Amino acid sequence: MGGRVVVVGSFNVDHVWRCQALPQPGETVSGAYATGPGGKGFNQAIAAQRAGASTSFLCALGEDAGAQLARSLAEADGLDLRDRRSHAPTGSAGIYVDAQGRNSIVIGPGANDDLDPEWIADSATLLASASVVLAQLEVPASTVLAALRAARDGGATTVLNPAPANVACDAQLLALADVLTPNETEFAALARVHLSETFQADAVESLPGAQLHALCRALLPAGSVVLTLGAAGSFVSHAPDRAHGDDAPWYRVPAERVATVDTTGAGDAFNGALAASWATRAQAFAEHVRFAGRFAALSTESHGAAAAMPRRAEVEARFPG
Ligand code: ADP
Repeated sequence: MGGRVVVVGSFNVDHVWRCQALPQPGETVSGAYATGPGGKGFNQAIAAQRAGASTSFLCALGEDAGAQLARSLAEADGLDLRDRRSHAPTGSAGIYVDAQGRNSIVIGPGANDDLDPEWIADSATLLASASVVLAQLEVPASTVLAALRAARDGGATTVLNPAPANVACDAQLLALADVLTPNETEFAALARVHLSETFQADAVESLPGAQLHALCRALLPAGSVVLTLGAAGSFVSHAPDRAHGDDAPWYRVPAERVATVDTTGAGDAFNGALAASWATRAQAFAEHVRFAGRFAALSTESHGAAAAMPRRAEVEARFPG
C-alpha cells in the first residue's frame, strides 16, 4: 500500500525565549532566543512524511520570510506543500520557557485564519483521493469541516486531532472523525462540553479502562478514540463493529522508555506517524498505535517540534520487532 496522507492545518514560525523566570506584567527580562518552524499542521505533516507516507500539506502563508521558511523546509523533506496566499503575516508564536520548563505562549494566527473552506474546496480531488486526511483546530473550524467532508465523500479515513484544548470542537466536527486523538487536557475539555462530565486532565490517566472506554463511546459512538497520555502511553477505544483488526474493543499501549529531553510536539509526532502508518501498511490498528508511540517517543529525544521528527528507518532500527 502506498496511500497518501493529506494534512490540513497551521504553519507558525516559533520564537522561543528561555529565561530564568517568566516576565511579569511590566517587567523586562532577558533570555536565550531560538527560532524554528512550528504549527500543529506543519509538525504533523513533516512527521507523516518522515514516517514514510507521501504527504501533502494544505495551509495558508503570508508573503514574507516565514512563508519562505515553510516552503524551503517542506522541499527539503519532499513534503508537497500547497499554500493559499494571504496578505496577513505568516502565523507566529511567541513562547517563553522558564527554568522549570513552564511556558507562556502567544499565538498570532495571521495567515492561518485565512485558510478558508472555499480554497479547500479546490483541493476536493486531492482530499478525496487520500488514504488518510488529518486535521487539527489551529485553522478555522469551517475549513476543517469542509476538508473532513470532502475526505469522507471520497472514502478517505479522517483523523481529527482536537487540539489545542482551548478551541471548541463541536458535534458536527466530531461526527466527521473516523479517529479522534485527544491528549488528556483535550479529552477533559471534550468530556466537559459534550458529556457534562467534569474531571481534571491529570486524573485521566488513572481512570479505570472500562470507564475511559465508556466515555470514548459516548463521545464518538461510531469511531475510534486514541487518547494520548504522555509518558503513560496511550489508550485506544473502538466502536463495537469497527475494531480495525484489533481483538479488544479497548486497551492501553505503554510508552517506550527513552532519554527524553523535550516533549514539545510529541502529540504532533504521534498523529503524523499514526496517519502515515495507516496509509502505508495493512495491519491491525494496535500496530499502527505502537508505531506512532515509538515514533513520538523518539521525537522527545531531540529539541524542537518539526525539526525533532525522526524517520521511519530510525524508529525501526531503535525498536526492532
Ligand atoms: P501532547 O504533546 O499532545 O500533549 P502526549 O504528551 O500525550 O501529547 O504525547 C503523545 C505520545 O507521545 C504519547 O501517547 C506517547 O506515546 C509519546 N510520548 C510522550 N511523552 C513521552 C515520554 N516522555 N516518553 C515516551 N513517550 C512519550
